[in-house]
Amino acid sequence: MTSSSCAICGAKVSPAPRTSCYRCIFCGFKQQPTTSETSSDPYQSLFTSFKDLPALSALQKTPTIALHGLDPAEIDTLPSDGNVAFTALVAESRDNAAIWADMVLPYVPDLSAFFREKFDQLRPGGLLYLSAPVQRPFLRPAPLPGQINFFQPKNIMFLLEQRGFKMAWRKNRFSPTLRIIARRD
Ligand SMILES: [Zn+2]
Repeated sequence: MTSSSCAICGAKVSPAPRTSCYRCIFCGFKQQPTTSETSSDPYQSLFTSFKDLPALSALQKTPTIALHGLDPAEIDTLPSDGNVAFTALVAESRDNAAIWADMVLPYVPDLSAFFREKFDQLRPGGLLYLSAPVQRPFLRPAPLPGQINFFQPKNIMFLLEQRGFKMAWRKNRFSPTLRIIARRD
């Protein structure tokens, strides 16, 4: 991709020569080329994120939560907490009550398309759980293996607002990991 505009705010950016890596001087977002590395232990992060399930249940009672990025066989191995059932997120589905996207954003090549797709996959009022490492003034978490997107918290808020989501819940403002639940209009 040789795009010369920021994936978040659309400002013109100058990627470094021979790479598509850039840091936007306007919104602070940074993107670097996809690598072949993949996350070392996605499940560990997923299980950590499940601590936020009660927050989602408090916002909306839902019998099923669609997990982004896991296939049905992987989901069968997950422990059930009794209150909700997990399903695989079907790309063409259009009526999900809740979508769980733990640590997905750091790896999404096309952020606009991602948020457009999640909006389409949720029913009106449906909930989207997102987590991602974020850069703060005195905090720069070490890159995840294969990470391409490096966000500031405001970058994610901007994308959500732009795509018709409203923030419904947010964990710890000062954590190196942003964890939020957004509601689709
Ligand atoms: Zn920008």
